Amino acid sequence: MSQEFDSLDKLIHQDPVFGQVSFDDHEQIVFCNDKDTGLKAIIGIHNTVLGPALGGTRMWHYENEWAALNDVLRLSRGMTFKSAITGLNLGGGKAVIIGDAKTQKTPELMRRFGEFVHSLSGRYITAEDVGMTTEDMDTVREVTPYVTGISQDKGGAGNPSPITAYGVFMGMKAAAHFKYGSDVLEDKKIYVEGIGNVGETLVEYLTQEGAEVVIADLNQERLEEVRDKYGATIYGGNDLYSENMDIYAPCALGATINDHTIHKLKASIIAGAANNQLADEVKHGALLQKRGIVYAPDFLINAGGIINVYAELEGYDRTEIMRKTENIYTTTIEILNRAKESGVTTHKAALEIAQARIAARKHEHQG
Ligand code: NAD
Repeated sequence: MSQEFDSLDKLIHQDPVFGQVSFDDHEQIVFCNDKDTGLKAIIGIHNTVLGPALGGTRMWHYENEWAALNDVLRLSRGMTFKSAITGLNLGGGKAVIIGDAKTQKTPELMRRFGEFVHSLSGRYITAEDVGMTTEDMDTVREVTPYVTGISQDKGGAGNPSPITAYGVFMGMKAAAHFKYGSDVLEDKKIYVEGIGNVGETLVEYLTQEGAEVVIADLNQERLEEVRDKYGATIYGGNDLYSENMDIYAPCALGATINDHTIHKLKASIIAGAANNQLADEVKHGALLQKRGIVYAPDFLINAGGIINVYAELEGYDRTEIMRKTENIYTTTIEILNRAKESGVTTHKAALEIAQARIAARKHEHQG
């Protein structure tokens, strides 16, 4: 994928599905519609070479259907590479439900969505993403076994977000070690954009380490809550991207590193939880490299959640979950060094390793 859409006009001039740049050889796309519950969902199955396509469901009030389709395709592709680089035997998939999670999500809608997931016979396994909770996954579990991230009292591994945050923290420390020669984050000025499930726990780790943490979110109540709990500072300006900071941690939605923001960024490290942080992974990856900003690839450092949900399928325990997540530190160092030595972007260095693993497995299958 050599370019990315930042304008919906460009999308509309493409073939609607197979012609989208973000389509990138998806195996299957399923459009789900149910008049009675109001469900409108899209399931993207990008690649199942390494195993069933596992990825969360996002519920979001998209501007239009194009935006929803583009989002699910980008996210599902990202899951393929996330699982591959983390060494999990999983493929990449993702689902989006079009609508407002606060006002339009009902148990009936979630069950109907679960029935669509079930109809895929395990080719796609769902989990939570933005706009979803562990309880929603419990509801989906009533109609299909192809769901992870269910609550612990129902035999699941619970909310994956704290583990994701731990992985991001590990990736950030590794990037600091690479950039500054020390992974101590004390006194580093770190902007966390999005203090939802993952962002909040990340703020907890960072403040515990003595970092100077600035938080930004659309939700004022949450900002005050997180400030009061951890002593972080609420961002009061109107252009976060041009602020002086050491580390930028995008933990809201994707594509915040784009044509409008990239030239303003003063951070020396970007390390966060959001999926698809680079609007165009080739162009913006190269610009970051040129500007000497160390970018810890999102799909590498936010893999804690998938490690956690994979435990539900494989039956491994919390110690193993934490060990695998901690390993993100070592892998990040390896990727950053590899990128430096071979002169490629950090995103490309990570992608190449993931793609090589998929190609090797495909070769095995064919052989
Ligand atoms: P969440 O819905 O709990 O939190 C997202 C937060 O971002 C919310 O508080 C929301 O108000 C805020 N937000 C949205 N748009 C914003 C904007 N423009 N500016 C500032 N804040 C904004 O989601 P989460 O589970 O914490 O996930 C955060 C990101 O990490 C998402 O991109 C998600 O796909 C990714 N991710 C999450 C997990 C996980 O385990 N939850 C795993 C991997 C990746």
